[in-house]
Amino acid sequence: MDKVYCYYCRSYHAPEEVRLVQSKSGKRWRCLKSIASSQASREQRDAFGRSVSELNRLIGLDRARRSLPYPVKELFKAPVESRV
Ligand SMILES: [Zn+2]
Repeated sequence: MDKVYCYYCRSYHAPEEVRLVQSKSGKRWRCLKSIASSQASREQRDAFGRSVSELNRLIGLDRARRSLPYPVKELFKAPVESRV
């Protein structure tokens, strides 16, 4: 066996490039490249989730202090404040 079928890429890889992983339909061979790329995209999703909850937290803090949340003021470049 010099090549291993990767269910993720649906192609063959060298044995040293693949790992046996547990999938929905049982144990399958999957290459390190595809494992790394799916881990990277999960980390990106996690980072995005963290930034969204951080933004929500900041908006919540700002709402407590002022009537307009800061991002909304940014959006309109705060014309209300300059007129008052
Ligand atoms: Zn692969």
